Amino acid sequence: MEYYSSQISKLIEEFASLPGIGAKSAQRLAFHVINMPAERVEQFADTLVAARRNVRYCKECCTLTDQEICPICAKADRDHRTIMVVENARDLAAYEKTGKYNGVYHVLHGAISPMLGIGPADLRMKELMLRLQGDVEEVIIATNSSLEGEATAMYLSKLIKPAGIKVTRIASGVPVGGDLEYIDEVTLLRALDGRTEL
Ligand code: ZN
Repeated sequence: MEYYSSQISKLIEEFASLPGIGAKSAQRLAFHVINMPAERVEQFADTLVAARRNVRYCKECCTLTDQEICPICAKADRDHRTIMVVENARDLAAYEKTGKYNGVYHVLHGAISPMLGIGPADLRMKELMLRLQGDVEEVIIATNSSLEGEATAMYLSKLIKPAGIKVTRIASGVPVGGDLEYIDEVTLLRALDGRTEL
């Protein structure tokens, strides 16, 4: 790293600190940025800062949004009595892309993982329980079919069922450990249609 000026080194370090960016990619990106027109770089930096500043959790479903309430929760013609619980906003996007689900969501922002030290308190479960005090008919648990996703589903079902709300789990036609976002629409819809009561 000491072959470069300290500012270039710093830029490379910043890129390298991002997930999935190795040392080589970090160098390539840093030099790419340095060769970009100055105003493009400024625009890019502004976008980063504005996104970080304005994007927050939706007050209802905890997905990422730049409004108090995300566009899905704000829609009156969606079925607000059916809540699909997903691990992250990317999973939500995968189901939205199918265009066939008309309920609302709840985004946990992770799954229970004793290995990584992630417990229920680290996830958006309290917010979900609060929502269940309203008029809710069914909670569809669509966490991944990984060990963590299954543990989270079990935990949630034990937590929610005593409230007398129907709890279902998407069918496990989805490959084990497969991230929902990489699964095609047909498989997602089959998993949703084939959900079973827990
Ligand atoms: Zn929302």
